[in-house]
Amino acid sequence: MEYQMTVKREGEFTYDIEWHNTFEGLGKAVEKLSLMSRKACIVTDSTVGPLYLNTVSRQLSPLFDKITSFSFPSGEAQKTLDTVKKLYTHLIEEHYERKDILIALGGGVVGDLTGYTAATYLRGIDFIQIPTTLLSQVDSSVGGKTGVDFDCFKNMVGAFHQPRLVYMSMETLHTLPDVQFSCGMGEVLKSGLIRDLPYYQWTLEHSRELLERKDEVLIRMIQGSCLIKKTVVEHDPTEQGERAVLNLGHTIGHAVEKLKNFEMLHGQCVALGTVAAAYISKERGLIDSEALSVIERGNRMFGLPCRFEGLALEEVLSATRSDKKMEQGKIKFILLNPLGHAVVDKTVTDDEMMAAIGYIQG
Ligand code: NAD
Ligand code: MG
Repeated sequence: MEYQMTVKREGEFTYDIEWHNTFEGLGKAVEKLSLMSRKACIVTDSTVGPLYLNTVSRQLSPLFDKITSFSFPSGEAQKTLDTVKKLYTHLIEEHYERKDILIALGGGVVGDLTGYTAATYLRGIDFIQIPTTLLSQVDSSVGGKTGVDFDCFKNMVGAFHQPRLVYMSMETLHTLPDVQFSCGMGEVLKSGLIRDLPYYQWTLEHSRELLERKDEVLIRMIQGSCLIKKTVVEHDPTEQGERAVLNLGHTIGHAVEKLKNFEMLHGQCVALGTVAAAYISKERGLIDSEALSVIERGNRMFGLPCRFEGLALEEVLSATRSDKKMEQGKIKFILLNPLGHAVVDKTVTDDEMMAAIGYIQG
């Protein structure tokens, strides 16, 4: 094993996150769990399956009587109850029982959908996360949020359900398309900005090695992000308060994402939304203009946008209102105060948002 971190689950349970260069250590990592399961179902998608399913099955086959796999077409459009239903059918037909286990092999879509199925099948069975995108390694695989989209509502149906293990292999990042890598970097930069300025600065200083995807530097970076997320999530596992800071850049980011009809990816929109949030923070005197330029420079270094085109200001503003992050009709906006520390603020006005949206309009 290369590196390891332990996260508290609900009650007295904990689980480990492990970082490796390859899948070689997977068998050992799963063996340590002393599972009672005889069967494991590897859930994956049509892109990741052909790349890694055989390797992962080979690593796990000595540990189970039977391994089955369930694959669905890749993409957010499949993160639905329909796909969950097909997976339930597979599990029932293959006689999966309460002590058996699901293994999510893929990005955030596979992780969220598998986690939700695990949370609900037979009132909850165990699952393991093997995240294969940078975004899922730094964000969605840690924290226990699982779920699917419903009609056009993102993550509308879900459950909190913690995995038994998160295993990350850096080899998966070598097949990841550049645009997906950038999206993951959007979340990495966000985590530094909300809780750890030295980590943020370290990331910018190591941009060359990171963009070359050097394993050791990637592991350090991913660990840093996971540590930040773990700390925030352990304080507030079900998002009663502090966890909301993880939504930095999401209010305006989500609005743009929705209006662009998913032509811009989530991580790109979060990066853009972060510039908007930083602009409001600067206007309120919480950070200075140099800090705002640093954030824009950081985005550009990793191929992330600072501006958008082709949408009206009013349109973006009204799209922020349907955001899930509302409390009693007030938007829980995340501001920087100061740089490297995010805070929840419910007093951001429409005028402030309009000015920020105007700022990021190219
Ligand atoms: P994704 O799972 O759709 O993966 C992006 C694309 O990359 C897909 O086409 C996938 O097939 C492909 N891919 C995955 N791994 C690959 C690899 N190693 N090599 C080549 N191609 C690969 O999307 P994502 O960006 O990983 O995750 C986004 C999802 O995560 C969204 O549904 C979002 O709602 C969710 N999310 C959840 C949380 C949470 O806390 N649960 C947090 C953030 C995001
Ligand atoms: Mg996000």
